[in-house]
Amino acid sequence: MGSLKIENVKKAFGPVEVLKGINLEVTDGEFVVFVGPSGCGKSTLLRVIAGLEDSTSGRVVIDGQDVSVTPPAKRGIAMVFQTYALYPHLTVRNNMGLGLKQAGTPAPEIDRRIGIASSMLSLEPYLERRPAELSGGQRQRVAIGRAVVREPKLFLFDEPLSNLDAALRVNTRLEIAQLHRRLKATMIYVTHDQVEAMTLADKIVVLNAGRIEQIGGPMELYNSPANEFVAGFIGSPK
Ligand code: ADP
Ligand code: MG
Repeated sequence: MGSLKIENVKKAFGPVEVLKGINLEVTDGEFVVFVGPSGCGKSTLLRVIAGLEDSTSGRVVIDGQDVSVTPPAKRGIAMVFQTYALYPHLTVRNNMGLGLKQAGTPAPEIDRRIGIASSMLSLEPYLERRPAELSGGQRQRVAIGRAVVREPKLFLFDEPLSNLDAALRVNTRLEIAQLHRRLKATMIYVTHDQVEAMTLADKIVVLNAGRIEQIGGPMELYNSPANEFVAGFIGSPK
């Protein structure tokens, strides 16, 4: 299970309101993409969902439970960052297993989950290496693997492909799509790339200056953008 409800979430940094009342429902197993220009609040919204940032007001509800004051580790969420955020001194295996170890998961269970995730992500040959010995694409797969082993209700991806070159971007994007099909997990994915949004999303959320401009399926937004802004972002050329 991994449904999400965001109710009138606002977030201010000092006097600056960055999220201006976000309302959104994500159903279990859905792949939802947030798009919008740089600085519109995509990362802030993800961080509020993850609990890495407190909202100023509003509620975050996961599987019917208000988690607004639940610590990040207890929300059943795993986040994948643009910069991978791996520990340089740990092997791939230990990077993937650290969170589980800290949560007290028994070693055989950690090994079992790492086995499954590394097989899904073609990481078996690299398990005893350190991040510095890997390519950018491999590092990002490790970061995704680290999320997978936690068996979260909700995956959050913040521009995970932005640091990869074009060919790797396509490959990694296809792997994420395949992961979604296999795990049937709920995924929320931030990008400013129209192609990523159109190919990955069940539902696209278009953000602009802290507000939602439109929510809809890729073809719906493409064919019937609600306004000029959405048209400029994903609409069909008029
Ligand atoms: P996006 O991910 O869409 O590019 P962000 O959510 O990172 O946008 O940022 C939205 C706005 O909030 C930006 O103007 C940014 O400068 C501001 N912001 C983000 N985090 C902080 C912070 N910790 N303190 C102050 N301002 C912040
Ligand atoms: Mg961002």
